[in-house]
Amino acid sequence: MTDPKFETLAIHAGAQPDPSTGARATPIYQTTSFVFDGVDHAASLFGLQQFGNIYTRIMNPTQAVLEERVAALEGGTAALACASGHAAQLLVFQALMRPGDEFVASTKLYGGSINQFGHAFKSFDWRVKWADPFDPGSFEAAITEKTKAIFIESIANPGGVVMDIAAIAEVAQRHKLPLIVDNTMATPYLCRPLEHGADIVVHSLTKFMGGHGNSMGGVIVDGGSFDWSADDRYPMLSEPRPEYNGIVLHETFGNFAFAIACRVLGLRDLGPAISPFNAFMILTGIETLPLRMQRHCDNALAVAKHLQGHDKVSWVSYAGLADDPGHQRMQTYTPKGAGAVFTFGLKGGYDAGVKFVEALELFSHLANIGDTRSLVIHPASTTHKQLADEQKISAGAGPDVVRLSIGIEDVSDIIADLDQALAKA
Ligand SMILES: *Cc1c(COP(=O)(O)O)cnc(C)c1O
Repeated sequence: MTDPKFETLAIHAGAQPDPSTGARATPIYQTTSFVFDGVDHAASLFGLQQFGNIYTRIMNPTQAVLEERVAALEGGTAALACASGHAAQLLVFQALMRPGDEFVASTKLYGGSINQFGHAFKSFDWRVKWADPFDPGSFEAAITEKTKAIFIESIANPGGVVMDIAAIAEVAQRHKLPLIVDNTMATPYLCRPLEHGADIVVHSLTKFMGGHGNSMGGVIVDGGSFDWSADDRYPMLSEPRPEYNGIVLHETFGNFAFAIACRVLGLRDLGPAISPFNAFMILTGIETLPLRMQRHCDNALAVAKHLQGHDKVSWVSYAGLADDPGHQRMQTYTPKGAGAVFTFGLKGGYDAGVKFVEALELFSHLANIGDTRSLVIHPASTTHKQLADEQKISAGAGPDVVRLSIGIEDVSDIIADLDQALAKA
C-alpha cells in the first residue's frame, strides 16, 4: 500500500501474520533467547554484520513490531523500545553525554524528569541547565561549548502548555545540537515533532500510547536528520567502537545510527529492556490511539469550558480554549486538539485542592496521566512536593493547582463528578 494514513499505520505498521503459525495479532514472544543457525550466524549477529535476535535484553520480535509501529507513526527512521519513559531518557543521554557535558532543558517538564535531570544525572556528571519554555533566547543563552543537546516536551507537564517547537529547533540547528522532544502528552496523533525540526523523539509509552494504565514502556525515535559526524562532539557515534571490531556506528548505519547506538551500547549495557508482554499490551493500545486521543481531546475541551464558568475556579489553563495564551501555538502544533491533561486553579488554594481531590468519585487520585479513566492529582502535595517552592511555581505546580487527565468516559458523568466535588471543596 502506498502512503497509508495514520489510522491505518496505527493498526498495521510493523506487523504481519506470524510466518510460522499464521497468527494475525502479534504474538508475545515470551522467550529470553533465540537459537542461532550456526556458528557463523552467531558471529555475524554479535559483530553487527547482520540483524537478528540474540537475547531479549537487546531485541525481541514483539518489541520489534512496537518499534516499527512507533517509528512509522512519528515519521522517524527507526525506534528503540525500552522499559519506561525514564529509561528512554537515560539511554538517549547516555549516547550523547560524557562526564562533564551539559544539556539545556525547559523548566516545564514532567516532575520525574526534573528529578532525573537535576539529581540522578548528577552521579554521571551530566549537567542540566534550565531554560524558560516561552523564551527560545534563554535556551540559546544557556548553551556553552559543553552543551550536547536541548530537551523539551511538545505539550508540557503539568499545565498542558504547547511549546513552540520550531523556534527551539532553530536554536538547536544554529548550534548544531540535536533537539530531543518528549512527545508523551501529545502522541504522534496530535503532533509529530520531527516535522517541526526535532531530531529525536522520546515517549513514555506508559501514558496515552498504551493508553489503558496497565503497562510501563518507553521508546526512542530516531529522526535520522542529525549529522553525528560533523565534529567530534558525539564520539559514541562518530568514533570506532572497540566492542564491535572498531566499526563507526554513524558511518555503518547512517540515518538510523542513533537508534542503533541506543540499542547496542545503551540498552545492551545498561539493561532497561521492555518485557514482551508489555510490548504486546502497548501495541494493542496503539491500535485505537487515534480514536482515543480524539475522544480525550473532545472531552477535555468540554470540561475546560465548564470549569471556566465555575465560581470556585479562579483560572483554567488549557490551550484548546480560544482565549488561552497558548491557543495559537496549539493551532500550529496540535490542531486536532490540545490533549487530555490540563490544570486549573481553585480559589480556596492548597486546602481546597486537598478536599476537592478527596471528594471526587469517578476520578482516580493517582500519579499518572493518559489512562482511559479520568485521573486527578494535586501536584503541590504529591508529584512536585519534593521541589522547592519557586521550582514548583515555575514548573506550573503552585499550591492552588489541580491537574486533570480527562478520560474517555461519557463527558456528562465526568462533569457531574467535578461539580459535586467542587461543591465540597
Ligand atoms: C510519565 C512521563 C515520563 C516518564 O515515563 P515513565 O514511563 O513513567 O518512566 C516522562 N515524560 C512524561 C511527559 C511523562 O508523562
